[in-house]
Order: sequence, then structure tokens, then C-alpha cells
Amino acid sequence: MAYQPIPKDIANLRWPPNLVDYATVRSQFDWAAAGRLLAGLPNGGGLNIAHEAVDRHASSPRASRVALRWLGKNGERRDITYCDLAGETNRFANALRGLGIGAGGRVFVLLGRVPELYIAVLGALKAKCVAAPLFSAFGPEPIATRLAIGDGEVLVTTEALYRRKVEGIRERLLALRHVILIDDGPPVAGTRRWRDVMIAASDHFTIPPTDPEDMALLHFTSGTTGRPKGAIHVHQAVVTHYVTGLYALDLHDDDIFWCTADPGWVTGTSYGIIAPLTHGVTNLVVEAEFDAPTWYGILANERVTVWYTAPTAIRMMMKLGAAAVRGYDLGALRFMASVGEPLNPEAVVWSEDAFGRPFHDNWWQTETGGIMIANYLALPVKPGSMGLPLPGIEAAIVERQPDGSVSVVDRPMVEGELALKAGWPSMMRGYLHEDERYRKCFAGPWYLTGDLAKRDGDGYFWFVGRADDVIKSSGHLIGPFEVESALLEHPAVAEAGVIGKPDPMAGEIVKAFVALNPGYAASQALRRDLLGHARKRLGAVVAPKEIAFRDNLPKTRSGKIMRRLLRARELGLPEGDLSTLESDER
Ligand code: ATP
Ligand code: MG
Repeated sequence: MAYQPIPKDIANLRWPPNLVDYATVRSQFDWAAAGRLLAGLPNGGGLNIAHEAVDRHASSPRASRVALRWLGKNGERRDITYCDLAGETNRFANALRGLGIGAGGRVFVLLGRVPELYIAVLGALKAKCVAAPLFSAFGPEPIATRLAIGDGEVLVTTEALYRRKVEGIRERLLALRHVILIDDGPPVAGTRRWRDVMIAASDHFTIPPTDPEDMALLHFTSGTTGRPKGAIHVHQAVVTHYVTGLYALDLHDDDIFWCTADPGWVTGTSYGIIAPLTHGVTNLVVEAEFDAPTWYGILANERVTVWYTAPTAIRMMMKLGAAAVRGYDLGALRFMASVGEPLNPEAVVWSEDAFGRPFHDNWWQTETGGIMIANYLALPVKPGSMGLPLPGIEAAIVERQPDGSVSVVDRPMVEGELALKAGWPSMMRGYLHEDERYRKCFAGPWYLTGDLAKRDGDGYFWFVGRADDVIKSSGHLIGPFEVESALLEHPAVAEAGVIGKPDPMAGEIVKAFVALNPGYAASQALRRDLLGHARKRLGAVVAPKEIAFRDNLPKTRSGKIMRRLLRARELGLPEGDLSTLESDER
């Protein structure tokens, strides 16, 4: 089944889709030409993300448009225009200079989704510093590790977060020179107040010439498969952010865009800050955490037009049912996308029912810096597929050879590792302090993603699972996603996580962990029913042999099911790095 959501008379639409003729756009695309869609720094000064995201709009008719519309968790509202954002980020850039932080200085931000986070990240980029946003719910250890690996020189945070999480580890952070607290209050030893450093700084700043290859962002991976890696990104990444905003998110000039991800994860920076601002649209920033009715209210009241969210949130919305959506006027909403985990076909079907349009799944990683494979507004959506590679991105299914090389698998629907031809602008330039690990990601021209997938005859990619999570049972390779999606079709199932459990006969057997929807209770009868349903859908070889019920599945703070933890707990093995585990799971 495939959805064809766009009417035939495209020319009559208020926002004609940015990508209609996929094949032609793809064949004519080149990154150098795409780079020319951006302004570049004046006088051949190179390329700086903050200039593209802020300053070029501030000196255009868009200056008075709202760049950031902030909705605070206590009902506050604050609109920051492009002009205001330019002034504030200039101040912060000057403040950094005033503190003696030079180009390349590492500026960490440990904040909830408040305006100062956005000002600090963009101001740091203007000053040619490296911005590293950290998730504010991290405990002291994950903060200490990341600041230490990243040689953090500046930390922007709140007094409460500082006292709770940083004070006790401060003496271990040898590189950390300045801590800036965004709230007001009496002096706290070893820190400065945001207001003081900002008042002292001018709101005029000229971005120095910036080499597109200068390091701009440091992002840590989600830690789903092991210890998080620090991925290095450069200013040139903004070309990918712009192009993917254009094609994968279909951004248009007067959009109200909402990306629900926290900037502590790469999605929340690439698409919660940079991509929408490079398009000069109004970017909604919502401080509160997920709550379905609140989110529906925001979509309706703020007239959100383009919405980018994640499967975990979608599954939680599904739990409440489609009827809960219908009381809201979502007439402004014209495009919905999802990233971060496989989007089960059931979720796409549900969204069509609940919202009248499907979620468009797309795939990428911290390492790729931007969306690589996507379902596009004007192209058919095949539920369960990640879609087609972006223009400028060559994706393939490859097989690793014993000599370390890879060969491309051309036949459709054959599983193999997803690989991308290296060379797009937002490709990571390294894992911080882990050169060997970085080198191992490449074979010839290919960047190896560590994900398994297959491609169908139309060129659509289908996620199978992470290479680490794939189950080998009686000579078959089984991807957990397929099994989880089948379980999710059952009305009782809210979430499913599937692992391979060692077995003397089969090598591994498929074991599923399942969390139930409201109104269902764990029982032997339900277990039998689920096993029967899975066997019918998947066949005896692929269906789980064991099912265990859980109230919740362990997830990363960015909402990904941690199968490695399900497996470790099942087998009594060490749990490994838990720095990104959601706290209520500890
Ligand atoms: P780590 O690398 O530390 O184990 P992580 O891979 O979860 O963590 P991210 O870079 O945040 O860290 O996530 C990228 C991964 O998320 C992808 O490699 C893929 O496994 C998964 N992913 C993202 N989007 C999708 C999608 N649309 N469908 C399936 N999987 C997805
Ligand atoms: Mg990864």
C-alpha cells in the first residue's frame, strides 16, 4: 500500500511542493550549486552557519519576522525576531571574545529549551567557537565525561543545574574556564551571570572569515548501541541543513515550523535550530516535555504548518487513540515528518486516520549531520519505508568482504548494510579523540552506517535493524523492526522491543518484550494470543518464541528503545554505558 497525498493540480496549491520531479531534481543536483543557494559571508569571507541562519535575514525584509517563538513551560510566550536574534547573538559572540575565548573554543550549553540556549549556540558559531549542546536531564557523570572529552572551556547553564550537577565535578574539568548562569541572583563562586556578560557586550559584531571546513558543532550520539561518540561537524554542514529543509521538510517562506527534538540531540540542533532559520521561517520552541493534549493544543493554537517529531511520541499519541486528535483544528498543518527510530507501518496508517495525512519517515544519524533518506510530500509514501535518498545523496546496500572492502548489492529486497557515498557537506569530519573508530566507518568511497536495510525495486529503502541488533536464528537473519512492527499491529501492544537470546539449537531465538496499551493486562492467554498473531504474520521462523511483559521498555533520553540493555539484562551481562538511559528506567 502507498499513500498519494498530493492532489494532481499542484500549481493551485498555496505551497507547491519543493520536490515534485524527484528523478530530474536528483539527476541535476550538485552540492556546489546547492551551496550557492546560501549567501556566504560578505566579501568572500567563507561560510558561517550563524550568518545563514540569522544575519542574512536580519539585513533583509525578513528582519522583523519572528525567528523564534518560545512557549515556556509556565505559559510564558516570547517572540524573538530575526533582527533581535542578530543583536542578541552578536552580544554573546562579543561576550565570548571578552572572556578571552578565541576561535575553536568549545562552548557547552546545558539548558532546557529556553531562548538563551539558542542565543548561546548561534552566538558561539558567530565567534567561530564550537557549540556543544548537552541534554539538561543528564546527571553529573555524563556531563563530566562529555565536557572532558570535548575540552569544554565555557559552560552556559542555570544556577539550579550548576549546583545540582556541575559544582561537584568542577575540579575534574581542567579545561573549563567560565561558567555562565542564565538566571539572575546573588554571586555564585566560580560563575558569572548571563545578564552581566551580555550587558557589557556590544550588539554589533562582524563574523570573521570562516572556512567552511572550520569545526562548528560537537554532537554526541544517542548511546543506543554503546558508549556515545562525539561527532565533529563543520560550518559547511549548513548546506545540507538548507537543502534538506527544502526537500525533506518542504519548508516554505511563511511556515510555522515545530521540531519537537531537544537540541541536546542532533535533530534538535540541525532541525530545531539551523535548518528552519536558514529558510527564514518562524521556528517554534516548546519548553515543556511531551504531553499529547498539550501538543495538539500547540499545533492548533500556533497554526503549526510543518511538524517534525519522533516515533516514541507518535506511539504515545497512538495509545490515546485517533479520537483525541479530532477535537483540535489542525487545518494549518500541511506536512508531518518523523525521525530517530523506525516508524512502524501501523503508525503511518494511524496518522492518516488521526490527522488526515501520513507521517513522513526519514532516516539519518548524528554522523550524517542531516537527513539522508526521506519520504517526500509529493511522492508516494510506503508505510514502513524510510523513503528515497535526498538529491545529492547516493545510498546503497553493501556487503562487507573478508578483506575489509565492500561490494554493492544490486538486487532488490536483499538485506545488507546501508552505506552512503561519502562527500556530502554535513558528513561528520571525525569522532573526537577516536580516529581509529572513525576510520573504520569507511570502505573505499562508502561511509558504512552500521544499520541494516534493503532497497525495493522503486528505490525505496526499508530499515531492518542495527547491525548489532540483528538476530541469527537457525541460519536466518531476522531484523527486530519487522517483528516489533508485527507485534504493534495487535491492539494490546503499545511498544515492543525484540532481541536474540542464545539457544543451543537455533543459535539465537527471537524474544520480544512488550508494553501494553491501557485496558490490557498481562496474562498467559494474551501471551498465547500475541505469539499466535506473530506466527500468523511472520511465520514460525521469524515470530518470537518468547514474550515478556514490561511496564516500560528501556529507552534513551532521545526516545530510542535500548535493545542492548534488554539483551544484557536478559542474559545477566554488564549493562554498559547508561549515560543516555531515561532516568525512570534506572
Ligand atoms: P549510538 O550510535 O551511540 O549507538 P544512535 O545510533 O541511536 O546511538 P543517533 O545518531 O542519534 O544515535 O541515531 C541514529 C540511528 O537511529 C540510526 O543509525 C538508526 O539506527 C536510527 N534511526 C534514525 N532514524 C531512523 C529511521 N527513520 N528508521 C530507522 N532507524 C532510524
Ligand atoms: Mg549510531
